[in-house]
Amino acid sequence: MDDALRQIVCKNCGSEAEVPSDSPPCVTPEGWYALMQANFGGQRVELRTQMYYFCSKTCLMLWIEKEVPEIPKAFRDAFK
Ligand SMILES: [Zn+2]
Repeated sequence: MDDALRQIVCKNCGSEAEVPSDSPPCVTPEGWYALMQANFGGQRVELRTQMYYFCSKTCLMLWIEKEVPEIPKAFRDAFK
C-alpha cells in the first residue's frame, strides 16, 4: 500500500476507499460523502471534530435515520 494514501471507511456499510493522506479531512473520493460532527467540549473552549464518511447518499441517509433521528426532516430532505 502506498504511504501517501489514507484509508477511509463508510460509517454505514464498512466499504473502504483511499484518499491522498495530505488532503483535508473533508476530501472524499468521487461519490462519497463526508459528515463533520463538531462538539464544543463542555466548559472548555475546545472544538473537537469528528469526520464520518459514507460511500453513497443511500448510506448517508440510512445512517442519519438510524443514528440521529432528531435531525429535522427538512434537513434530511435537502439531501434528496
Ligand atoms: Zn456505504
